[in-house]
Amino acid sequence: MKVISDLNQTPLVDRSLAAVWHPCTQMKHHESLPLIAITRGKGPWLYDEQGNALLDCISSWWTNLFGHSNPRINQAIHVQLEKIEHVMLAGFTHPPVVELSEKLSALTGGNLGHVFYASDGASAVEIALKMSHHFWQLQNKPAKRKFVCLENGYHGETLGALAVTDVAIFREAYGSLLQDVFTVSSPDARKALAGENAQDVAKRAAHELEQLFEREHQHIAAMIVEPLVQCAGQMAMYSPEYLRLIRALCDRYDIHLIADEIAVGCGRSGKFFACEHAGIWPDFLTLSKGISGGYLPLSLSMTTDKIYQAFYSDQTKQGFLHSHSYTGNPLACAAALACLEIFEADRVLEKNLERANDLAKAFAWAKNDSRIESWRQQGMILAFDVKHSNLKNANIFPREMFSASLKEGVLIRPIGNTIYVMPPYILSTEETLQMGDAVQRALEQVLA
Ligand SMILES: *Cc1c(COP(=O)(O)O)cnc(C)c1O
Repeated sequence: MKVISDLNQTPLVDRSLAAVWHPCTQMKHHESLPLIAITRGKGPWLYDEQGNALLDCISSWWTNLFGHSNPRINQAIHVQLEKIEHVMLAGFTHPPVVELSEKLSALTGGNLGHVFYASDGASAVEIALKMSHHFWQLQNKPAKRKFVCLENGYHGETLGALAVTDVAIFREAYGSLLQDVFTVSSPDARKALAGENAQDVAKRAAHELEQLFEREHQHIAAMIVEPLVQCAGQMAMYSPEYLRLIRALCDRYDIHLIADEIAVGCGRSGKFFACEHAGIWPDFLTLSKGISGGYLPLSLSMTTDKIYQAFYSDQTKQGFLHSHSYTGNPLACAAALACLEIFEADRVLEKNLERANDLAKAFAWAKNDSRIESWRQQGMILAFDVKHSNLKNANIFPREMFSASLKEGVLIRPIGNTIYVMPPYILSTEETLQMGDAVQRALEQVLA
């Protein structure tokens, strides 16, 4: 370990590398890859110690909706801070958590009227998995205990969530700790064969699922999916037809459907919930990331009255006894409420239609570039793949592209050979075009 003797003389990034073990990082890569110390943010811009500005094109890991240091969200947190910063949610309640739950329930038309809170996304996924598992025990069907997930899906990295995740790099070292699951083909539209469209791929994938359900439904508790976009899975996008088909199959075989909207929820897909594109509701819906506007850790799992009622009893152990210390934190709920108010007051979903158009224009150059394939967009997510034949070294491409983009003043984090942007919902047309140009220049440098 490097011992730092004079903290005042040592750059913050070096102190960080000595003392902070950074997430999702091979720390040794920082010998060549810069670590960036951010000291302030405003709107879509992040500023380092020297005052250099960086356009946050990925919403700080898909969390930020309305910019950094947003005056309205700041104000809401300040106001709440003067009242109560935190109180346990077992045996107690408070205005922000009640209001937030009511508003979210209303956004589902009352279909998912019971909201259970946690702090991070993976925990919300685990809550849905545990509730489903427990529900079937309460129904005297304890054999229904296995989960179905999609190839290339991502649901977080705690052991339960990781078990239903199919991204090799996150799973490999921990395989022996994970429960067995059924993994079925992704309806990823990029798998379309000659003459097929995205709907055909969806039908094919759903047919495979039907065969699994037919054979194993007595052993299956729930199926979990990321609706429309498998974000960590290289922004794989698929037809809403798949969601309609699996909703019907889950109904037919008495299997819960868990929609993990942690990344695609909160307007990211073009509607508030991605499931709305398919006109379906799941049995469980998870949210995190954008729900607090990227301000504070908050996650939740919403469910139906049917599930809720199954746990309602005189028996303590028939209840859902799961808990986290910061469950339903008032400051985080106040931030979330401020976000929902912005959605309404600023007609965000409507305006995002224009912003999504801007996004498409800003990256129009990539559509016609022969080195690029699978240009795709779902609302405020735009992605494309650099053909492997154009990459000198696919392993280091994401890091090279990250570094080249930094020099152009934009923050992006490619996944494999996929370049994507997922900006906050506040970019001006000009900033959006600036982003597209900067990414293009960075890509030219890397591919040169
Ligand atoms: C990020 C993410 C998670 C995990 O959320 P954390 O807060 O990182 O634990 C789960 N599911 C999806 C779809 C995600 O994108």
